[in-house]
Amino acid sequence: MVIEFPEESAAAGRNRELLAEFVRLNDAPCAVCGYNLRNLTGEVCPECGQRFALKVGAPEARFGALVACLAPMLMMSGLLAFIIGMTARYGRPASGAWYWTFLVQGIVNAIAAVWLYRRRRAFLSMAYERQEVYAGISVSVNSAAFVLGILAR
Ligand SMILES: [Zn+2]
Repeated sequence: MVIEFPEESAAAGRNRELLAEFVRLNDAPCAVCGYNLRNLTGEVCPECGQRFALKVGAPEARFGALVACLAPMLMMSGLLAFIIGMTARYGRPASGAWYWTFLVQGIVNAIAAVWLYRRRRAFLSMAYERQEVYAGISVSVNSAAFVLGILAR
């Protein structure tokens, strides 16, 4: 049975046909629950109720270097949020270069994390070996800066 959708575009109708053809010919696990959608005629997973769609994917894409690059930036951003919260509650500490060191590191890393996230497509377009170099720089610079902050009096 073919369901008519008079208001949808020609492309949307054709995509619906291609989706039906794809699940007729392939074992296709639901992206949410893993249920095999093979031979289904609708657009909703009968197991979890999520709508499924035909999309272009990148099966070879690797996100490890991006995550490794972002992780220390987000950790230092979290430390910044903690420091701001503690300062708001208890005031600025009487002494401690560590305070200013972590404050500056947190601000720099929060800005860098937002910038990198917004530029993630450009980052992922680079050769993976180059992405790994940037991840190594992010991890080692932040590790060294964190140790400096702990040692600062
Ligand atoms: Zn499902």
